[in-house]
Amino acid sequence: MEQEQFNKILAGVKKWMKHLLVRYEPRMEPMAEVGPFNLDRYYPADMLRSVKRVIVDRCPVPPLAATGIDQLAEIENWELKGIPWGNIIFIRRDLENWEAVHFHEILHAVQWQCLGADRYLTAWAIGTIIRGYRDNPLEEMAFRFQSQFETEDKSFDVVKEVSGEIEKWPESYFDIERIH
Ligand SMILES: [Zn+2]
Repeated sequence: MEQEQFNKILAGVKKWMKHLLVRYEPRMEPMAEVGPFNLDRYYPADMLRSVKRVIVDRCPVPPLAATGIDQLAEIENWELKGIPWGNIIFIRRDLENWEAVHFHEILHAVQWQCLGADRYLTAWAIGTIIRGYRDNPLEEMAFRFQSQFETEDKSFDVVKEVSGEIEKWPESYFDIERIH
């Protein structure tokens, strides 16, 4: 795919996202104020204040069918448990007390902070098209640490782990020409 063509998709998603966040602003709650969770064992206090949660019946996804890319279009039909849009995490209502899904989505907010919107969305899209949703590099990392969170008692510094890994990512993760 040409960079220029992908930039148009990216611009559309960011515009959609901007409207979304304006619309849901009244319903945003800082993670530091929701619980009962022990996420401060994994995330610094300022992160838990800046990441905000919105409880929804269905996680918001942009109109991806319009991209004409099948692997992205199908996501519109999924029943996602949660989805991050920048530092705002949307969580499905039936999962509002499930700590692990919050852990997972806050980790995406950390990735988003490390990468910025363009690089986050680019790596996510390329990874999903080439390797599939679960194995795109952002999800692979989030599910791996979520599994550690769910199975081990020992806390760890998520921001340090995530930023350390992302620093080592190859530029090919962002190379839109890999999509044919
Ligand atoms: Zn995820």
